[in-house]
Amino acid sequence: MPELPEVEVTRLGFADRIAGARIEAVRVGKPLRWALAVEPSELVGRTVLEVRRRGKYLLIDLDRGLLLMHLGMSGSLRFGAELPAAGVHDHFDLVTARGTLRLNDPRRFGAVVYAEDEASPLAVKLLGKLGVEPLGEGFDAAAFHAELRRRKAPIKQVLLAGDIVVGVGNIYASEALFLAGIRPTVSASRLSRPRASRLHAAVKEVLARAVARGGSTLRDFSDSEGRSGYFQLEANVYDRAGEPCRVCLTPIRWMKQGQRSTYFCPTCQKY
Ligand SMILES: [Zn+2]
Repeated sequence: MPELPEVEVTRLGFADRIAGARIEAVRVGKPLRWALAVEPSELVGRTVLEVRRRGKYLLIDLDRGLLLMHLGMSGSLRFGAELPAAGVHDHFDLVTARGTLRLNDPRRFGAVVYAEDEASPLAVKLLGKLGVEPLGEGFDAAAFHAELRRRKAPIKQVLLAGDIVVGVGNIYASEALFLAGIRPTVSASRLSRPRASRLHAAVKEVLARAVARGGSTLRDFSDSEGRSGYFQLEANVYDRAGEPCRVCLTPIRWMKQGQRSTYFCPTCQKY
């Protein structure tokens, strides 16, 4: 599943090139998770202003209204002047004067939704409950600790929930907890200020590094140039059950937490 770093890498891959482009046509394929909520022809003639990101949503600002895109479980975007004819899994084309932005999504959990503005009910429904951006200035260590103190659930689950801080998906939660030396099962409310502070720094570091390296390697994901990233190749714990910890050589452990795989080092992450 594309996670925040992949979505950010995707954004960086086409945002500059599409900004300022006039929309010439919109092609819609099979139904996605949510309907477009506008007649495709109504978008023709509008201009793309910029592409932002909020959590795992891409916000494509037009001179009137905006498109909210989500890559779901298996979505990927390409942008190019000469894309081949749309294939069976290509479900949305935004054809502009500078090239076509194409959503390929075999499992169709992704979506492209039109909203008049970010205050419209539809946009609020999709974006309203998202926590702060981990790579933005709003992600503050003291506020993070204060929020954690109110949650009794295991820290990894709290990170995954996304309502305190967005975008810390399964891979990144495991990696950040390893860097911070925190056991994934410990109650969020029990983390001391220094430990919460270490986790805050680790979350930022793990995500920033993944963005810098072009997103993680995920079978279903390719960025807007069709390349894959390689963050996962150097994961410390994720998908390394039984392999030696890179710090202390203890075999990495695997467990199931709320239907998701969790990996940790029992020595480096004692409690
Ligand atoms: Zn270790």
